[in-house]
Amino acid sequence: MATTPFRGRKKGEKLDPLPQRLARLGLVRDWDFILHLPLRYEDETKIVPIARLIPGESQQCEGQVLRCERIRRPSGEQLQAVISDGTGNLVVRLLHFYPSQVKQLAAGSTVRLYGPVREGFLGLEMVHPKIKTALLGAKLPTTLTPVYPAGEGITQTWLRKRIARALFDVEIKELMPASLLQKLQLPGLPQALNTLHHPPVGADLQALSERTDPAWQRIKFDELVAQQIALRRSRELKATKVAPVIATARQPLTERLLQSLPFQLTRAQRRVLDEIGQNLAKSTPMNRLVQGDVGSGKTIVAALAATMAIDAGYQTALMAPTEILAEQHYEKLSQWLQPIGVRIAWLAGKQKSRERQENLSAIADGSAQMVIGTHALIQESVHFHRLGLAIIDEQHRFGVAQRLALREGNQEQTPHLLMLSATPIPRTLAMSYLADVDVSVIDELPPGRHPVTTKLVSLSRKRELLDSIAQQVAQGRQVYWVCPLIEESEKLDLTAATETFKEISSYLPNLSVGLVHGALPPEQKQAVMQSFKDGRIDVLVATTVIEVGVDVPNASLMVIEHAERFGLAQLHQLRGRVGRGAAKSFCILLYGELSETGKQRLKVIRESNDGFEIAQRDLEIRGPGEFLGARQSGIPLLRFADLQRDAALVETARDFAAQWIRLDPESATKHVKRWFSASEAFLGA
Ligand code: ADP
Ligand code: MG
Repeated sequence: MATTPFRGRKKGEKLDPLPQRLARLGLVRDWDFILHLPLRYEDETKIVPIARLIPGESQQCEGQVLRCERIRRPSGEQLQAVISDGTGNLVVRLLHFYPSQVKQLAAGSTVRLYGPVREGFLGLEMVHPKIKTALLGAKLPTTLTPVYPAGEGITQTWLRKRIARALFDVEIKELMPASLLQKLQLPGLPQALNTLHHPPVGADLQALSERTDPAWQRIKFDELVAQQIALRRSRELKATKVAPVIATARQPLTERLLQSLPFQLTRAQRRVLDEIGQNLAKSTPMNRLVQGDVGSGKTIVAALAATMAIDAGYQTALMAPTEILAEQHYEKLSQWLQPIGVRIAWLAGKQKSRERQENLSAIADGSAQMVIGTHALIQESVHFHRLGLAIIDEQHRFGVAQRLALREGNQEQTPHLLMLSATPIPRTLAMSYLADVDVSVIDELPPGRHPVTTKLVSLSRKRELLDSIAQQVAQGRQVYWVCPLIEESEKLDLTAATETFKEISSYLPNLSVGLVHGALPPEQKQAVMQSFKDGRIDVLVATTVIEVGVDVPNASLMVIEHAERFGLAQLHQLRGRVGRGAAKSFCILLYGELSETGKQRLKVIRESNDGFEIAQRDLEIRGPGEFLGARQSGIPLLRFADLQRDAALVETARDFAAQWIRLDPESATKHVKRWFSASEAFLGA
């Protein structure tokens, strides 16, 4: 592989100690290293004569340096060497280089090169090949060279050595019962691991890279079996826990809340509430996920579940992933619950310490019956008096550990858990990922909702769009303008949003334009949202902070810039911010460059207003790994197997796990530990 000397670290900046860097990759014990499998391989088993090198492929050759010079280019100084092996010449180019590399490539020395070959200006060349000072006649490796997933400050050479040592030190015992394994046409574990770490010359590289090789099948199977055993264990563990029994018949607060509502519950809402009620009445803790499209009315269902618990003398906690969303819940629930006499406490990260203290003591002495907040709810300083029900909104935005923390608290009894999500998990995934979660679906929108009309518009027509926005605003409409998410960088997000804000403000000087993003202090965020709600802002430029839950009925137009960069589920959520009022609503997806898949995906959004269908299509187009993201799953994530592609293996693994536990529970536990020890805490999730 080409190596670059730049590691993305600023000069003088220190790296974390090695164990920490490794831990971030999940590499702690020997078994973690053994199960750290290559991404791909390099073939250093043969030396190709320069004349026979094929452009476009990574190959190895060896030769003598004829000359080596530094060349000035506008982009900086390059090092350019010409190598010959008697059959032809090859140019080696280093766009940046160290003194040690100048020495290696000194005229007259013999070097062994590995890297992608390309057609250059002066003939064949390699840019940043791997360079070894060749000892003529030195033996070539007899197996392919693995390339492992690595991280900052961890070199391939080090990883290779460390993994090889783990493979040597540890006796790789077959844990699976032979009687069960026999029926499957899979290679043995030691053999599979050896093949994957060090494939012999002549191995089927394509099957290895597509992960269809029998060795891969075996590893994926082991991983799936571990996951299935973990799931079963977590279900058993849960069955031993005791939750408060909350009788749901004739409850005064619940009745009064129902009577005070300005609307009737939809049939779907009533059904889901009923399902929740049945769980609450039992002493096994509820573990229920309510899925409902944006706007389907999950909040009132949560509020009614809360009054059921409060009626029975228990506290309810509601945790939301962002400050904006938590505040909105606080507002809405106060509106509903305060008139009927429920005492509500509020906890958020940035809160005055006195206010916080007051709330904390109200939570601890039980005078706060309903507690609403962000992650602040799971800080150590929070002690519930008698938590009976924990509600988590937008559950997929939380990590497993965080969801657990709210439920565990410091109780003798385990509170019931209710999770809400507008991002539907397709049934195929739900079966495996959420095997121990009951799912309720609100599959009906309240009456009077208008479907949102969605249009695709090229970014090149942004100005036209802005002109038409000016007209719409003149007719009393309000507009959301969503700026794209830039991979892994909130700072860049912010720059993009700020620039868009400036651009729109100066292009439409007569409109009132606002800006809201995650980095604003909460009061300011709230103030901007309030202005937008009150109609004092016409166009609200926002990052995805408005993705969930924000409710401004008069906003009927949403523009999403660089829509191709968003996930489909996310686009659908964003779009759900409009279509909440009387006016006909539109969503404009502004796209930049579109790949074929990109086109397909945006078409799905244009053609469907159904969150479940969209999620299903997204899954088909992108595959479940990306769809779920690391945080959505409730159990250890799969590294190698793919629930969709390896569906047949999943079935086999499920039966296998059941039989194994019956046959030999101890070795089954050992197997899970091999795979998931780093995330052991999750097994009880
Ligand atoms: P989501 O499911 O996206 O969280 P919300 O709970 O925020 O949706 O509900 C969206 C809006 O619909 C809220 O203003 C809520 O008060 C209202 N609503 C909820 N249920 C009904 C209903 N049955 N009839 C009319 N309006 C409803
Ligand atoms: Mg909501």
